[in-house]
Order: sequence, then structure tokens, then C-alpha cells
Amino acid sequence: MEALITTAFIGIGSNQGRSRQTIERALALLGEHESIRVAAISSLRETDPVGYLDQPRFLNGAARLETELSARELLVALLDVERALGRVRDGPRFGPRAIDLDVLLYGEVTIDELGLTVPHPRLHERRFALEPLHELEPGLVVPGRGSVAALLSKLH
Ligand code: AMP
Repeated sequence: MEALITTAFIGIGSNQGRSRQTIERALALLGEHESIRVAAISSLRETDPVGYLDQPRFLNGAARLETELSARELLVALLDVERALGRVRDGPRFGPRAIDLDVLLYGEVTIDELGLTVPHPRLHERRFALEPLHELEPGLVVPGRGSVAALLSKLH
């Protein structure tokens, strides 16, 4: 039987250590997963911190994945990579992190479960997440929120 392949978009962020190398390593690890193909990677951009302001600037980007994993399995794979790269969850929420991987979009699916909300609940208000998505796919739509282009224009 052929496995069903879904296009998913993930957000990537880092503001501790050697951010560019850590992000490249995270994408390499994801690409080694037998059920994930890293189809495209956006450029990486420096952004100001949001929420918890007293911390270094972030390096942010996004990637398009083709995957046979469910959204939940994909989240587990992202958390595994975060752990492998030494992220420790002991700081303030929205605080400094060596690597942060989020499921931004999973096909056109909407999920609202314990520990998993897709589209990512803050995607529509975050320029640092919307811009790399727009770069990867200008016509992309956030289910329930509208097009990435329209969401970005509302933030201007
Ligand atoms: P943080 O890394 O601080 O953004 O929080 C990660 C936690 O948020 C994970 O343990 C997930 O259970 C939860 N979460 C809920 N929805 C998502 C999503 N779409 N992507 C990543 N994490 C999510």
C-alpha cells in the first residue's frame, strides 16, 4: 500500500549558541528521518524577540516537508530533534532557546488537541513565521485565517 504523503510547514528559531549551524543541523537530522523529506528551506532572518524581550535576537526560518507521518508523529519528531540538539525546557516561556521547531501547517488540516494545535496558534500574528512561509509559497493559505499574504499585509 502506498503511504499518504502530506505537505507540512515547520517554523525554525534559535537565539542561543551558533544559531545558523544549529538550524542546519536540525534540518539535517529531520532529513535523516525515514518518513520525512525536507523539500525546501527558506532564507534565515534575524528578528527581534517577542513576548520575553530581554534576550538576544532570533534567527528564524521555515521549511516545507513532505511526510508520511501524522501531525502528532511529526511533532514528536521535532521534539526529538530539539532534545538531540540540547534544548532544555527550564527557562521562561518564549525565552532563549538553542532550537525551537514548530508545526506551522499540516496540509489543510485544523487540529485542536491537548499539546497540538495546527495551524500553530500564533502563526497568523507572527511576521517572523509568516514571512518565510510567504517566501516558500506565496499562495499559501492558513486554514481558518486566510492567505499568508493577506495576514502579512494586516501586520504592516
Ligand atoms: P514551545 O517549544 O515553547 O513553543 O512549546 C512546545 C510545546 O507546545 C510542545 O510540547 C507541544 O506540545 C505544544 N504545541 C502545541 N501545538 C504545537 C505546534 N503546532 N507546534 C509545536 N508545538 C506545539
